[in-house]
This record gives sequence, structure tokens and C-alpha cells, in this order.
Amino acid sequence: MALHLAIFGRQGAGKGTQSQRIVDAYGVVHVSTGDMLRAAIAAGTQLGLAAQKIMDAGGLVDDNTMIGIVSDRLAESDIVDRGVLLDGFPRTPAQADELVRILGERSIDAAVNLEVSVEEVTARMLERGRDDDTEAAIAKRLGLYESQTRPLLDWFDERGLLRQVDGLGGEDDVFARVKTALDACIAGVEVGEGDNGE
Ligand code: ADP
Repeated sequence: MALHLAIFGRQGAGKGTQSQRIVDAYGVVHVSTGDMLRAAIAAGTQLGLAAQKIMDAGGLVDDNTMIGIVSDRLAESDIVDRGVLLDGFPRTPAQADELVRILGERSIDAAVNLEVSVEEVTARMLERGRDDDTEAAIAKRLGLYESQTRPLLDWFDERGLLRQVDGLGGEDDVFARVKTALDACIAGVEVGEGDNGE
């Protein structure tokens, strides 16, 4: 069966880089909702126009819009055949509920959370200087991550579908940890107490 993977982590934790590595290693299709929204902005679509203002301010695009985009994408044949890495979705409780509704309880086979501190990700984002990386927008996005997205991690964790991965260090080192974590998760290996990155 095609694998369904997900990657979580604060903005600036290195999800983009690690996502590329996961896609290469597992042959799944990368679905980044941030990339999809940026493509819509570049194409000047109605969605792009609406999303741009929200993204620049560090807000979240509304759940119905995001759910519509992602559920359409998940139905396409490449994902049905090859599986998916979700990056940036689900981001709110409503999005997680919808994912479970579409794909069922085992909607995700394995997920990793890239753990990088607020101080470190703020420094990284200011350095990369993307258009939506102003200090105010960064602070708002990090706040929304804690309030909206972090609670979702518990849902995956309780079902044994999530592994914590230390996101500090070189790309290769981090990927080695990511791969070990995903493989253990896919195999359904129980991690002993204290092995869960706590
Ligand atoms: P980052 O991880 O740096 O925030 P992303 O590329 O994941 O970057 O997302 C960029 C922006 O796109 C977010 O700040 C948000 O405004 C919007 N966005 C992306 N995914 C979602 C989502 N699932 N729900 C709502 N808004 C989203």
C-alpha cells in the first residue's frame, strides 16, 4: 500500500530540506501546502490573491480553503499510486479531523516532528529573509504553531504514529535520524520510555 507520511516542525525547523530527502528516499509525492499557496500567488489566481495578504501577516489560510485544496490533491492518481508526504497539513484541529475523515484512522502511517527551539528557528528565518519572514510575522506564525498545530501532535503520538527528531545539526545527520524514526514508526516498533526525544 502507498505510504502516507507527514512532517511537522516549527517554521524554520528545516522541513523543506528534510522533506526533499524523504521524498527521494521513499518515493512518495511531496505535498507542501506552503508551496501550493506560493504557486497560486505566482500564478495570480483568486486563491493566490486572498492567500498573499494572510501569509504576509503570518496568519493561517482558512480551513475550508485548505481542506478543499488538499483533498483534491490527495485524490490525484500519482498520490494514490505512490503515496504522500504531507508538509504543512494538517495545521489545525479541523484540518486533522478532515484528514481522518478522508483517509481513515490510519490516515498517516508515520510522522516526524523536527524539534528545533524557538530561538534557533527565529534566527534561521531572519537569515533566510523570505518575503513573509518579518519579525512580526515570524512571531505570529510561531504563536499559531504552538496554539493550533502542536496539539495535533498529541493525536498522532497517542496512536504511536509520531516520532520526535532533534532537528539541530547537519542535513545528513538530521536525515539519518529522520529515516530511523520513520522506519521504526512504519514497522510499528514501540520505543522504550525516554527514547521518544523527551
Ligand atoms: P512555514 O513553515 O515557513 O510557515 P509554509 O510554506 O508551510 O511555511 O507556509 C507558509 C504560509 O502558508 C503559512 O504561514 C500560512 O499562512 C499558509 N499555510 C500553509 N499551510 C497552511 C495550512 N495547512 N493551513 C493554513 N494556512 C497554511
